[in-house]
Amino acid sequence: MSNTSKKIAVFPGSFDPITLGHVDIINRALPLFDTIIIAIGSNATKKHMWSLQDRKTAIEQLFENNNAIKVATYDGLTATFCKSQGAQFILRGLRNSTDFEYEQTIAQANDKVNGIDSIFIISSPEYGFISSSIVRDIARNGGDYSKLVP
Ligand code: ADP
Repeated sequence: MSNTSKKIAVFPGSFDPITLGHVDIINRALPLFDTIIIAIGSNATKKHMWSLQDRKTAIEQLFENNNAIKVATYDGLTATFCKSQGAQFILRGLRNSTDFEYEQTIAQANDKVNGIDSIFIISSPEYGFISSSIVRDIARNGGDYSKLVP
């Protein structure tokens, strides 16, 4: 990588919906990269609560004043999307050892097969318990999830 090339990271996820945990990871990663592309995977086999367009619009509004952040949707392999964007890094958050176990083999495969490094940021203690699936559970049952999302 030459000195002049920009450091671009893709932050892939479902963001169904985006939570304070995601926002924490994004804000803390900002000093490390020139550009972070928040990439919403449009995995057709996954059942979503919010539409792809709603999720994209919500994230765009959240970061509309930050030129370093871009929002995109993609399908297929995350590594293929990274290459199409000229991104050298995948950004992921780690809450616990379950996240770690899941991420480890994917990160190693992406390194070996695609030469893409994964960068992990450990969640801040106050956000480590938040997941999109908990928010969906609360939403489905008519509860108040406003303290968990931006
Ligand atoms: P995926 O379906 O790919 O796990 P998510 O939208 O659930 O997509 O998560 C995207 C990324 O954000 C993952 O790396 C996940 O570990 C991370 N993440 C989710 N919630 C939190 C949180 N509360 N704190 C830190 N990282 C988180």
